[in-house]
Amino acid sequence: MEKKNGRTEIAELGEFGLIDRLMADVEPKNETTLLGCGDDAAAVAAGEREAVVCTTDLLTEGVDFDLTYFPLRHLGYKAVTVGVSDILAMNARPEQLLLSIGVSAKISVEALDDLYEGVKFACRELGVDFVGGDTRASLTGLTLHVTVLGRVERDRMVRRDGARINDLICITGNLGAAYMGLRLLEREKRVLSDVKNPEPQFGGYEYLLERYLKPRARKDIVDALREEGIVPTSMIDLSDGLASDLMQICKASKCGARIYLERIPIAKQTTAFAEEIHADPVVAALNGGEDHELLFTVPLSMQEKIMQLGMVDVIGHITAENTGAYLVTPDGSDIRLKAQGFPEKE
Ligand code: ADP
Ligand code: MG
Repeated sequence: MEKKNGRTEIAELGEFGLIDRLMADVEPKNETTLLGCGDDAAAVAAGEREAVVCTTDLLTEGVDFDLTYFPLRHLGYKAVTVGVSDILAMNARPEQLLLSIGVSAKISVEALDDLYEGVKFACRELGVDFVGGDTRASLTGLTLHVTVLGRVERDRMVRRDGARINDLICITGNLGAAYMGLRLLEREKRVLSDVKNPEPQFGGYEYLLERYLKPRARKDIVDALREEGIVPTSMIDLSDGLASDLMQICKASKCGARIYLERIPIAKQTTAFAEEIHADPVVAALNGGEDHELLFTVPLSMQEKIMQLGMVDVIGHITAENTGAYLVTPDGSDIRLKAQGFPEKE
């Protein structure tokens, strides 16, 4: 992989390849470390029966958000969702949050008030205590660094590596809406870039904007699973897109998967806007990302219980590792899932 001059471009490895390489020789040594790098959150022993789970996420201006159309109040809310969602993916209760900010002089105090309004609102909604952070100057725009801690009984903690053959693949909510919200905002930004008093046209697509700008963490699902006595065999939050995140489960659990295209829940507005811009809503669901819904697996025997929840769609099942991960289309063709980019027909 390394070039002759000793320099490897990050793009050659990709995000996951880079993390694998940097962390290859890192082995947790402390007895209290129950789970290290590689899942939605790390886990630390807390007493005899419980674990504290912790996750950290970085959001940078220009990469994760564009302040020309991202209201700071919503950005604060979304930063909480991004962190809390990883805690929920461990089947844990989110309890504490820290937020560090890198701020440039172009941001006013009032703008930061708005950002923190959003953070505090989301924390209140989720029952999370906002317990600190750090503040630094930045020369390169706004940076947000969110850390969230949660708690779970060890025997209820759910990792990415527990999926077994014939388990049902379940998802919450619907997919692709956040990505279409982003496409809508980008379109309005382009159209209105030369207009003096821009008035963007979002009529009929408010749901897409909400899914991108103010996604909700699915604490209701983790609560409902607890109430019904269901412990998923594996779980991940959908931050990178269904294809990539399902493949993370397959990789960790050493299994394959078959999901059925017509079972993937896609909202009406997602399909409508995709048609308007000549995009494929299924590709948005598979590769769009930022949905912050939960993807999890349960044993086949749980089918009835899961359907009774009424908040979850079963979109396929787990198969043997050597069969790979596939999307089955209504005409019966199998499309091999890829972590990124457009899926290819076989
Ligand atoms: P998520 O999308 O759920 O936030 P990521 O894809 O960011 O998860 O990270 C996957 C795993 O890799 C996590 O366990 C995370 O702790 C770890 N990880 C990510 N970036 C780094 C890094 N720079 N150094 C060490 N571990 C990392
Ligand atoms: Mg995650």
